[in-house]
Amino acid sequence: MSKTNSNQVSSGLSRPGLSRPGLSRRGLLQAGGVVLLLGRQHIAQGASIVAVRVWPAPDYSRVTLESDIPLTAKPIFVPTPPRLAVDVEGLDLNPALKELVAKVRPDDPNISSIRVGQFAPGVVRLVIDLKQEARPQVFTLAPIAPYKHRLVLDLYPAKAVDPLEALISERLRDAGTGTTKAQTPSAGGNVITTPPPAVAAAPADPLGDLIAQRSTPPSPAPVAPPVAIAQAPAPTPAPVPPPAPRPAPAPVPAPAPAPRTAPNIATSRSTDRIIIVALDPGHGGEDPGATGPSGLREKDVVLKIGHLLRERINDSRIGGSPMRAFMTRDADFFVPLATRVDKARRVQADLFISIHADAFTTPAARGASVFALSERGASSTAARWLANKENQADLVGGLNVGGLQDQHVQRMLLDMSTTAQIKDSLKLGTSLLGEIGGMAKLHKARVEQAGFAVLKAPDIPSVLVETAFISNPEEEAKLRSAAYQAQLADALMTGIRKYFAHNPPLARSRSV
Ligand SMILES: [Zn+2]
Repeated sequence: MSKTNSNQVSSGLSRPGLSRPGLSRRGLLQAGGVVLLLGRQHIAQGASIVAVRVWPAPDYSRVTLESDIPLTAKPIFVPTPPRLAVDVEGLDLNPALKELVAKVRPDDPNISSIRVGQFAPGVVRLVIDLKQEARPQVFTLAPIAPYKHRLVLDLYPAKAVDPLEALISERLRDAGTGTTKAQTPSAGGNVITTPPPAVAAAPADPLGDLIAQRSTPPSPAPVAPPVAIAQAPAPTPAPVPPPAPRPAPAPVPAPAPAPRTAPNIATSRSTDRIIIVALDPGHGGEDPGATGPSGLREKDVVLKIGHLLRERINDSRIGGSPMRAFMTRDADFFVPLATRVDKARRVQADLFISIHADAFTTPAARGASVFALSERGASSTAARWLANKENQADLVGGLNVGGLQDQHVQRMLLDMSTTAQIKDSLKLGTSLLGEIGGMAKLHKARVEQAGFAVLKAPDIPSVLVETAFISNPEEEAKLRSAAYQAQLADALMTGIRKYFAHNPPLARSRSV
């Protein structure tokens, strides 16, 4: 764990270390992932870089070096000016590595430039100049799917992007008007500078006020006031003071299934309760998802469909309440499954819709399908197969298993009961399926169930929509067409509306 945190790595541009000519390649392969920073002994011998990739996003920017054998890297983070230097052993500067320099985009939110140089014989030094303070994570990944060994450098902004902040500022930008009591509609436009990623959006946050109707003030709890206690004959002599603001359910960023009560909605007229739909385009970044016979990538299509659906949602109202889409990823980068769920919970989404277009084992397979979580087994072997495949996304995409946060989230999600969620998810799924069935062939006429990790928000009706099988040539062609993408988005929008028509968002108590 800590070895993966480059902050732990002390300074001292230690000497490159000697090559060990006799070191067996098998030994290196067995060494696998996490070993990297220990790996003084396991010096890659003449590794060849297969590819270099840069994935910029506001959440974090990633640099990947893919090589034929594992690389050993020594990261050193220098805070001022912020930059990450990484000495990669067993490498000589080559054209593939030099490409990195050109791969940094000017609009990369985190990286301003990359320099590479031969630091010593067999040691290449990368210097990543940063636009802001960062929390780097450096780790290796063992070969999987189409990839060989990967050395991953993730650069997280020191001030993490908070999904709720992002959503609010985006809304402000779109609205153009700082309605209600907004005092500082400074949300000029681009990336959001976030206040401390604290638990439960502070009531003092002016932006938060703007959408106050949807997040009730965290404190005025329905807790019995002290008076009530005093009155009681008290079988227990001195009752413990009422549990303070309720011990946050988890020491995790997620602002718990916060109280989302109707009274609040009634009060603020001008900005009614906003109905938030989390859209989750599958895959992204290092994880391309499935690829069609002619090369269409799942991660690209589903992002497009997500954007189209977002437009429709943002233009819609349900029972007078404005709707807002929140995208778990709005660019081409890897988002771990648990993080997708966590983001949706942070914005207290009313619904969660994961969008996919997977491949199946046979190109003949076709048709759309919709999935909900299953508490027990999968509803069919195909559903189980697919869930297993989707749940591998983290391995392909490149999760730093040492990332403590993710483990927290994972555990929290596992602990929570999901019966009510599944019930609602099935209703939502049925509604979506009904609409998709009107414009496309269905693979299965009813909502299927399996253990999809991304559907595990305990308090948000969550479904995964397989819009089509990208492995089927005809369906791939349709998926590629803008008209078909728009039709899909229309169908999903109608399905969402119909779901809400029968299950009004306010009628549900989600806090329990
Ligand atoms: Zn997928």
